[in-house]
Amino acid sequence: MKIAIAGSGALGCGFGYHLQKGGADVTLLDNWEQHIKTISEKGLTISVNGSKDNQEMDICRPHELKEKMDVIFVFTKSMGLKSMMESIEHIIGPDTKIVCLLNGLGHLKTLEKYINRKNIIMGTTVWTAGIDAPGHTHFNGQGPVEIQNSDPSEKEATIEIVDLLQKSGLNGEYSENVNFTIWRKACVNGTMNALCTILDANIEEVFATPTIDSMLRNIIKEFATVAKHQDNVTLNVEETISYLKSLADKVGAHYPSMHQDLNNNRPTEIDFLNGEVAEASKKLGLEAPYCQQITDLIHAKEAILGIT
Ligand code: NAD
Repeated sequence: MKIAIAGSGALGCGFGYHLQKGGADVTLLDNWEQHIKTISEKGLTISVNGSKDNQEMDICRPHELKEKMDVIFVFTKSMGLKSMMESIEHIIGPDTKIVCLLNGLGHLKTLEKYINRKNIIMGTTVWTAGIDAPGHTHFNGQGPVEIQNSDPSEKEATIEIVDLLQKSGLNGEYSENVNFTIWRKACVNGTMNALCTILDANIEEVFATPTIDSMLRNIIKEFATVAKHQDNVTLNVEETISYLKSLADKVGAHYPSMHQDLNNNRPTEIDFLNGEVAEASKKLGLEAPYCQQITDLIHAKEAILGIT
């Protein structure tokens, strides 16, 4: 199976590494010159759950890859998805599948501008990853990766990708309701990421604050309202709060990626999380004051840090 990883940062390198080990013919695509140079010359150095390895991998800029791919995993940040899709149009054939595991909301709508819905596979992953230096990444956890075809006719093709993910050690699972999974993951990012970033604290510290219940409830209510109106997804607010608290117990010492993005002077994905809920609410004639305020605060912090 010919696979391209469109956006080979932390998660993209981790997926590319595993898929190649699982027998796929993988090409990493990226635009970060130093990262491309290091991987081309010295291979990808990766630590998987603490175990270090180095693997030769094909890597180039998107326009340099000429063949049509069987499957393309997109792994940009949310705000980079549109421009990445523009730069990979030439490697998309009539049956090429795009797998999207980005955090955030609204990506199906973006992808549909470039590719027929029947070839879009949406999902989430709870693998975590980071970049230590160009060409050096780490990849942690046990997964899973949950995916589902956006069109009912493509279940068989999606199960083939699930099998490849399994064979590659990425713990693929076929999801019968990926929209629910995407919304629930958005609730995780829209609460933990946003609050830890604004409060400059780790998850354990934020979840120990006396106001945690009302902060979570106010945000999740807004996510649940839009999920219902827009995608007919039912998010039970109290069940989601319990889920978040159980997750917080497991990853308390962690500073979420949004916090790390600001520390590294990189823009956040807030517009695709709380910002998307605030915008969608306006379009539905509703209000989402908590998500709007959180979005404004994160953008204010980006401005203070001079991040554009
Ligand atoms: P990333 O920032 O590591 O990579 C995204 C792109 O940014 C890549 O093209 C990468 O090469 C580029 N990039 C990264 N650092 C750069 C630098 N210093 N200079 C120039 N370019 C640079 O993003 P990611 O963590 O792989 O996340 C991809 C998507 O997956 C996001 O939507 C994220 O929210 C989601 N996600 C991430 C994780 C995680 O643990 N990293 C987990 C689940 C979901």
